[in-house]
Amino acid sequence: MCAMRNQLRQTVSLNRLPARYLSVLRQIGRLADERGVSVYLVGGVVRDLLLKREIWDLDLTVEGDGIAFARLVVGRYRAGLAVFERFATARLAFPDGLKMDIATTRRESYAQPAVLPTVQPASIEEDLYRRDFTINAMAVQLNSRQFGRLLDVYGGQRDLHTRTIRVLHAGSFQDDPTRIFRAIRFEQRFGFHLERATLRLLVQAASRNLIQQLSGPRLQNEILLLFAERDPVRAVARLAQLKLLRFLHRRLRNTKNVKQVVTAVPKALAWWAHRFQDSVIDGPIVYLMALSSESSPAVVAAIIRRLALSREQAKNVSTGGSRLDRVLKRLTSKETVRPSQVYRLLEDLSDEALVLLLAKQHSVRHRVRLNLLKRYLVAFMKNKAVKTALRGRDLQAMGLTPGPQYKTILGKLLDARIDGMVTTEAEEHAFVRKWLG
Ligand code: ATP
Ligand code: MG
Repeated sequence: MCAMRNQLRQTVSLNRLPARYLSVLRQIGRLADERGVSVYLVGGVVRDLLLKREIWDLDLTVEGDGIAFARLVVGRYRAGLAVFERFATARLAFPDGLKMDIATTRRESYAQPAVLPTVQPASIEEDLYRRDFTINAMAVQLNSRQFGRLLDVYGGQRDLHTRTIRVLHAGSFQDDPTRIFRAIRFEQRFGFHLERATLRLLVQAASRNLIQQLSGPRLQNEILLLFAERDPVRAVARLAQLKLLRFLHRRLRNTKNVKQVVTAVPKALAWWAHRFQDSVIDGPIVYLMALSSESSPAVVAAIIRRLALSREQAKNVSTGGSRLDRVLKRLTSKETVRPSQVYRLLEDLSDEALVLLLAKQHSVRHRVRLNLLKRYLVAFMKNKAVKTALRGRDLQAMGLTPGPQYKTILGKLLDARIDGMVTTEAEEHAFVRKWLG
């Protein structure tokens, strides 16, 4: 391998990095010189540098003790430090927001498929070999005299040029089936293709039910990361094409209708983000809601368990189905719906569910009803801030004995406010008296 190391002397310009990153990396290179260790930028960062894409986080790896080296860097920069002994990795957070992982170059061994590996220190070449795809298995050295030297032992540059996703060895998907989803993630993100043998190995690994052995949180992470990409619609289609949706559930119903709703989610999300800029939407969950929206409650419950979803995620995913269809039917029927009725229909729904409601309406392509729904949503979001002037204690002062009727009366009062039937405190008083009267 050392021979390979010398053969492939190529440099990459790091000048594309923001100046501040560049100066930190140069200093880290000098620090590594002092320590007598080799340090590299590695993985996705190198790929994104070569693709001229934006870089967010820096991944570094040290041939030597990565954690000890990370402590040294932290000492110089007063960065925050979190250490993950098990993975021989440290995460640094610099005062200006820069995030950096520093790992120890290592080899991995998989005692069983689909479980996390045990790790041992190893050379940089071995470290690159344990990685998922050739395009993610390159490193750039940072030591002063080798600053910018590219290590491309497995044909990463060639595969970037030919837009190819290729595993490093035949056992790759079996070792770690999350790579099945990662392959699709990169394929879709970059518009690359899966190399033939890689595709065959992927399909083979999928057919051997290795994915079933992945833990809930790991599968969840992969699925939601895929749905956090720029174009999740294509990713969902690709999952379906490769028969990977069955790993959510064998009886997931991916009907024509579901496909249309999934396809409409980006439009719904965009409209929502534009309209309600303060509302933070969990986009990936909206896709999962859309995808499971025609599956039976039992199937949806099983998906929630399989992915070990949090309570909030679970609540969203389980309202995606027939409940929303009923609300939609009522809202888009010929009868007029009063603002307070709209409010009551929507008040228990999360913003994610409202986005899905919109996507569902988008998918039926009825412009008039779509616009009606949008008006209802705008009114509803505004009405969420409406409050009654009177409170429980005011009712008490009016001579009412405290009890469940308070909730009823205050509810009626809120409806009247929302419908514009009362606008002042005096009118609220009058409203309550009349209602009691
Ligand atoms: P992204 O831009 O989505 O962050 P990335 O390539 O940086 O993509 P990360 O998950 O951040 O992906 O991981 C960083 C690097 O770690 C990868 O480029 C790859 O070299 C390696 N890696 C991550 N996950 C795996 C895995 N499951 N198997 C093998 N190598 C992995
Ligand atoms: Mg990354």
